[in-house]
Amino acid sequence: MAQEGKKPRMYVLGLETSCDETAVGIVDEQRHILANRVATQLTEHKPYGGVVPEIAARAHLDRLDDLIHGALDDAKISLVDLAGIAATCGPGLIGGVMVGAMMGKSMAAVAKKPFIAVNHLEAHALTARLTNDVAFPYLLLLISGGHCQLLLVKGVGDYRRLGTTIDDAVGECFDKGAKLLGLGYPGGPALEEAAKKGDGRAFDLPRPLRGRAGCDFSFSGLKTGLRQVTETKNPIPVADLAASLQTAIADILFDRTQNALAMLAEENESITALVVAGGVAANQTIRRSLAALAATHCIPCVVPPPALCTDNGVMVAWAGLERLGLGLTDSFDFASRPRWPLDSKATDRA
Ligand code: AMP
Ligand code: MG
Repeated sequence: MAQEGKKPRMYVLGLETSCDETAVGIVDEQRHILANRVATQLTEHKPYGGVVPEIAARAHLDRLDDLIHGALDDAKISLVDLAGIAATCGPGLIGGVMVGAMMGKSMAAVAKKPFIAVNHLEAHALTARLTNDVAFPYLLLLISGGHCQLLLVKGVGDYRRLGTTIDDAVGECFDKGAKLLGLGYPGGPALEEAAKKGDGRAFDLPRPLRGRAGCDFSFSGLKTGLRQVTETKNPIPVADLAASLQTAIADILFDRTQNALAMLAEENESITALVVAGGVAANQTIRRSLAALAATHCIPCVVPPPALCTDNGVMVAWAGLERLGLGLTDSFDFASRPRWPLDSKATDRA
């Protein structure tokens, strides 16, 4: 895609392999998405009701090559046209993370391009800047299958974690709840669908930590509460329980985010937006409730489109592009990390 007489565009390719999506994305500095190839592993993991790390790593290895070729074809460019190659290097299931990181480093070495080690959480955190050009600082609520966190996003590599889950991730609560109700895997979309026919106030399920100070989350008591109800009912009122679980989760997210907004207001930290990311952000009830909360604080609630909220390579490419633009690249010795919290101290990349 050479453009005669014009400054060459800056293309970055991103690889995502930290969980159960093998994904490759290509973006440029003008916020164009030139490729977004995602292969989910739902069928491989479905029989087990959850992600099996060894199966995930092998599936990433099987698919990555074809996805990279496909993405370069979609973008109508080749390896030499790239300004840099980014790969998720953590946090996540370490076997899969290593597959993507090794591939990214090898491509960068062969093509003599800069390599950018991307923190998966940072990739989620910065996506709203690609899709909605959101300015720093903003509050991020990251709600996915593996994470539930509130972060103040102050700049690239500059994050303050305000709260995190002390037990399950919110997506896990949807998935485990759906399993208890016999709704299949992945549970989130199935549970949202079932909830449409139910009454969200039918069962008063626990809302752990609600009304307490701080911004941490807890979901295990809610899961136990749901199980106790299912054990006493025959037949199980699936729609009412699905709706009640969804309402309880939405209430918990509202309460914790409200605390974060109040805390920032008290500190005179003025933020530009509430950004919601991660697979659970696809849930309409949760989106509506958080949009109403943001409105009371006179800030927009920004939710990237669903395809960019769930795991994808575009977000990794964009985080890589933002880092590259600031001259932040990494050496081929950069070690993959199963855990890599996103706060100022822990983004230390030495
Ligand atoms: P991620 O970890 O970002 O790839 O997102 C996957 C998680 O999002 C899984 O736990 C899904 O159950 C959850 N999820 C996806 N769609 C929905 C939805 N509509 N409502 C609630 N949870 C959802
Ligand atoms: Mg996933």
